Amino acid sequence: ATPTSVMVGTGRAAELGVLFRRGEALQSLREVDVVALDKTGTLTEGRPELTDLVLADGFGRGDVLGLVASVEAKSEHPIAAAIVAAAKAEDVPVSPVDRFEAVPGFGVEATVGGRAVAVGADRLMTHLGLDPSAFAAEAERLSLEGKSPLYASVDGRLAALVVVSDPVKATSAAAIGALHGLGLRVAMVTGDNERTAKAVAARLGIDEVFAEVLPEGKVTVVQSLGLSGKVAFVGDGINDAPALAAADVGLAVGTGTDVAIESADVVLMSGDLNAVVTAIAVSRATIRNIR
Ligand code: ADP
Ligand code: MG
Repeated sequence: ATPTSVMVGTGRAAELGVLFRRGEALQSLREVDVVALDKTGTLTEGRPELTDLVLADGFGRGDVLGLVASVEAKSEHPIAAAIVAAAKAEDVPVSPVDRFEAVPGFGVEATVGGRAVAVGADRLMTHLGLDPSAFAAEAERLSLEGKSPLYASVDGRLAALVVVSDPVKATSAAAIGALHGLGLRVAMVTGDNERTAKAVAARLGIDEVFAEVLPEGKVTVVQSLGLSGKVAFVGDGINDAPALAAADVGLAVGTGTDVAIESADVVLMSGDLNAVVTAIAVSRATIRNIR
């Protein structure tokens, strides 16, 4: 493309809410074969809610919710906000914590009034030497509904199944359909559990799912997708920054974190993923114009 056509293309895109931070991205975007999208905050609203708290024998709701919310009050993960909000709504007070530790991709741990509390994915429980399978049937049922099962332990005992649900954006399904219409493959990449990810992907018509991906693993997924074509990655989180940089074209959701935006080639001004379709359409039209 000539410098002028790139300028016209980026100007046209900007009017449509798509900011090209690098002109070359306008050219590379037309060659993309697969679009990989982060789940939480990209395909979904990124504002989960606590939907279920299933207690193990001997544990009380207020007690467990208070302990778990106290630990999550120190975390910046969207899951944490859901749990803290639920405690607040039930007038359950949060307490000060000691020895807080966030284990990226696993969950969080701390002591609350001398009690050891951990909240996170099943692999966090396994890592702590606990067996989460007491909740297996319930967790499976809820994850098939697209909800995310988490587990809480208190003083070395499995205490509760903590379930959060993050609604899919109203616009996501149409955007995925339009990407398919452009002849592109669409993949989901998420740290969330496999069944939940597959349930959400099925609803959206996404064909490839990479779930339970640890934060540093998103780059590996982008690289492996890159073996069979050019890859665009769409994300919003701190965890997405390396994958945004590693992809042929990184597109950050403008409602996301600064780190993601700074790592991206393209910034989508709204959270609506139809902007990805717009970006690709403008890129294709720009190149066509100068032929
Ligand atoms: P994602 O953005 O896809 O959720 P993360 O790497 O941030 O990916 O998290 C992966 C998984 O680790 C989450 O789905 C959840 O199971 C667990 N996890 C991470 N942080 C927390 C937290 N603060 N509280 C509970 N679970 C967490
Ligand atoms: Mg995200």
